[in-house]
Amino acid sequence: MVFGLFLKLFPHPWYGFGDHVVSDLDFLTERFRSFYQKTNVSEPPGVEFREFGYGIFGKKISGRHLNFVSLAEFNSFLRSQVPFYVSYSPAFYQYPANRPMAAKELLHSDIVYEFDADDLKTPCAQEHDFWECKSCHAAGRGVVEACSSCGGSSIAADQWVCENCLETVKKQVFRLVDVIENDFGFSDGLDFNFSGSKGFHIHLRGKSVQGLSAKARVELLDFVTGTNLDLQSLGFSESNNALRCTPFRSSHGWSKKILEALHELLESGDASRLAVAGSVSIRTANKVIEDKTAVWESVQKGLFPTVSSKSVVFWKNVLEFVSSDLGLSVDRQTSMDQYKIIRVPETLHGSTGLLAKKIIFNSLSSFNALEESVVFGNDPVKLFVSRAPKIRIGGESFGPFENQETELPEFAAVFLLCHGAATLAENHVPLKEALR
Ligand SMILES: [Zn+2]
Ligand SMILES: [Zn+2]
Repeated sequence: MVFGLFLKLFPHPWYGFGDHVVSDLDFLTERFRSFYQKTNVSEPPGVEFREFGYGIFGKKISGRHLNFVSLAEFNSFLRSQVPFYVSYSPAFYQYPANRPMAAKELLHSDIVYEFDADDLKTPCAQEHDFWECKSCHAAGRGVVEACSSCGGSSIAADQWVCENCLETVKKQVFRLVDVIENDFGFSDGLDFNFSGSKGFHIHLRGKSVQGLSAKARVELLDFVTGTNLDLQSLGFSESNNALRCTPFRSSHGWSKKILEALHELLESGDASRLAVAGSVSIRTANKVIEDKTAVWESVQKGLFPTVSSKSVVFWKNVLEFVSSDLGLSVDRQTSMDQYKIIRVPETLHGSTGLLAKKIIFNSLSSFNALEESVVFGNDPVKLFVSRAPKIRIGGESFGPFENQETELPEFAAVFLLCHGAATLAENHVPLKEALR
């Protein structure tokens, strides 16, 4: 495959086709090549049964239906073709390179759950993201639904990631692991990796998972995300003008999660939140909070106590309120689309230059992706940065930058170049000259 030619034919659209394009790309390609030359990627397991895809700068998947007979062949592909992105199928096929998809003959498949900071709407995005209106080109910092200038809703987002975003994603990962182990009972074959950009991937590679039907996979996903929850079928029922449930000690799955969340809300003592949750006055909510010990004792036994003339409605509202927060924001398409291919762990992510690093579960809580996934060195690189928020990477802080020249260690320079926020200073054409 003439991969170099692809790069030259389809450069990052942000830059256009000027002479400097190839040079920025050459710089990144050489950095990526040096990484793959000294690295032996030992993922994924069952390499000979997987379909692979690769991406060029600015395009995550530009080709697929590749297959490698061994990890050695896969590594020599990485060294010679130097893809900016490389993905593989959670599915195992008899003939992974065949087309169309049906001709690959599916054998069985892992399940992959993907969490991404963008789906979690972290508040810090208001600090580090930018937006630009596609109609009137007004721009600003933060995240907006509509343009503040023309009101249009066609918005281009320039999204960044920070430690806080990734900590928020991690909390979802821990909750998912709790579900996988305690609700699903799958404890073998769990693998974790940083996505290389804004989230984490959880691979379920155990035998008990691989043979599950498509329908079973949807059911697992609905359980994880709390889709179509129905209080009645979870054992919350109305009788004699009171709401009842399965006693706490014999509850499990979603009923248990909802009761735990209710307990947490009561224990927080937050009467205004409870008032919002139950659509009642703050006075009624205060009364419930004052009585919280007795209330919880009654709920544990299976009876929601009378708190007002509309107790049943109040408790149903509260239960729906707490359960809406419990569904996990997992990417549905990654788990459902059996043909979707996903980043190969231990390979580079072309939008960041960071490694999609594998993580041992016990180290996840202390794992700092923006330090531990840095693979490039400290040699100084002169850049022209068009726009970047303050970033923290490799244990150091840089920026913010706006239309300025700066010198950064290679790992930070690669990060900005991959994001499309910078160009090598030697290739930067000042606007006046460019228009001449
Ligand atoms: Zn606008
Ligand atoms: Zn953030």
